[in-house]
Amino acid sequence: GLSNRSEEQVSGAKVVAQALKTQDVKYIFGVVGIPVTEIAMAAQELGIKYIGMRNEQAACYAASAIGYLTGRPGVCLVVSGPGFIHALGGMANANMNCWPLIVIGGSSERNQETMGAFQEFPQVEACRLYSKFSARPSSIECIPSVIEKAVRSSIYGRPGACYVDIPADFVTLQENASAIKYKECCMPPPVSMAETSAVCKAVSVLRNAKQPLLIIGKGAAYAHAEESIRKLVEQCNLPFLPTPMGKGVVPDNHPNCVAAARSRALQFADVIVLLGARLNWILHFGLPPRYQPDVKFIQADICAEELGNNVSPAATLLGDINAVCKQLLEQFAKTPWQYPAESKWWKTLREKMKSNEAVSKELASRNSLPMNYYTVFYHIQEHLPRDCFIVSEGANTMDIGRTVLQQCLPRHRLDAGTFGTMGVGLGFAIAAALVARDRSPGQRVICVEGDSAFGFSGMEVETICRYNLPIILLVVNNNGIYQGFDVDTWKEMLKYQDASIASPPMCLLPNSHYEQVMIAFGGKGYFVQTPEELQNSLRQTLADTSKPSLINIMIEPQGTRKAQDFHWLTRSNM
Ligand code: ADP
Repeated sequence: GLSNRSEEQVSGAKVVAQALKTQDVKYIFGVVGIPVTEIAMAAQELGIKYIGMRNEQAACYAASAIGYLTGRPGVCLVVSGPGFIHALGGMANANMNCWPLIVIGGSSERNQETMGAFQEFPQVEACRLYSKFSARPSSIECIPSVIEKAVRSSIYGRPGACYVDIPADFVTLQENASAIKYKECCMPPPVSMAETSAVCKAVSVLRNAKQPLLIIGKGAAYAHAEESIRKLVEQCNLPFLPTPMGKGVVPDNHPNCVAAARSRALQFADVIVLLGARLNWILHFGLPPRYQPDVKFIQADICAEELGNNVSPAATLLGDINAVCKQLLEQFAKTPWQYPAESKWWKTLREKMKSNEAVSKELASRNSLPMNYYTVFYHIQEHLPRDCFIVSEGANTMDIGRTVLQQCLPRHRLDAGTFGTMGVGLGFAIAAALVARDRSPGQRVICVEGDSAFGFSGMEVETICRYNLPIILLVVNNNGIYQGFDVDTWKEMLKYQDASIASPPMCLLPNSHYEQVMIAFGGKGYFVQTPEELQNSLRQTLADTSKPSLINIMIEPQGTRKAQDFHWLTRSNM
């Protein structure tokens, strides 16, 4: 509006920054440009940490990981049009993972709308499929309330992504400072509890179980339910299985963890308690042949619409996982019950774990060169600091790595997730490193990448070096997507033809020196081909906390996972 010259003025950019600050936003990731540079600068002036990235997609992955790790949304700040569109991948990934995220997009000037303005695009509309809330404030005065609503929507109910559109003309427009009312910081989500009758039903189904199993998902990790779940596991002596990002809620080395007998546990359990995990592809939809046709599911989730998906549950616990687990514990406390340790079920599971572990150990102990996946992961496991974050992506690298690398702490594993997204690794690692730096200096982030996965956001190595983040990148390099070729085969193949015809679509350039990317920006790089070189480089890089590093680990180009009872994706993923 028209401003009175004598009054203090404030720009739209400053209002956005102050509104974010008031909502306790701590980190903004983005790529600046017209029209959002002023917003980034205003935020930094207010003490919000601004991390400039090299691509909006990676920035958006980073912001979403902040939401999962801290329970308050990180912000991804992007320019109009193409910048905004790059961020959609990150929004989709966050929304699929049920992680809170705020994306703030600059957009073209309102008085040029529909005229073919610079980077014009229907941004609010475009976000509808990628978010749970998407809006443009109608005036500068409205910015604080729309931002508060976006933050609140991102963490209340099932968490997810939210979008706020800021037209270019808002950024510089001046408004009377006194006209702007900031909404109070939104409170953490109210805690909801399950119905008492549902709790009684669940407990009675569990008490009658012959072959029970708990499945711990990333919803349980997000809910900070580690203490109550651990009590439930121990007081009832229940076998449990973490999903990929549910790892660490109860430590992987807990005696009740049956991850090494995953397929067996799923296939023969007669009662399964799902704690913040959906029956999607990751859990094979809860259907035969991966499960008994008459298995009884007890589903606990914060989202009512999730209950009953793909199966007819025996009991449904609608509420916050932590609260619900406490309710279960209280109910069990009335008449204590323990699943017998001498049961046939425990015996079957333990035997299967032993034999599966023996197969992996045998593969790991083979000393043929190039190394296989198992050899590499066993060496990494030996050196891992107990409290490190593990970020991982890549098909075989992530799947095999998950079975070997042990997680001891909740919310310390980040990977391709529900959407199976490749390219998330470096953004996630950057977010984890910032959280680590604020919470417990000295804590490291180990980012285990396939060579193909690394390529999607490889330029973020510059970001890692610019902020000197405590990240160790391990590129498990097999010269390709799923599999590649050795140098000789590659050369032979290309002798008479050009690469676009001769190179199989899965092939990447053999013997690529990815470690040089890290060296180029001042970090440390290692190229390793043997177990000794791998051990030495791990030792050195863990001892030297002054710089980020990248270890490029050459493995058998045709290497693969051990034989599986079920085919991957259609029936198995571990
Ligand atoms: P995973 O990939 O580990 O199997 P999913 O992402 O499929 O996990 O499932 C996580 C589930 O957790 C979602 O259905 C989500 O609604 C739910 N959830 C998120 N936060 C909470 C919470 N605080 N309490 C209960 N459930 C939650």
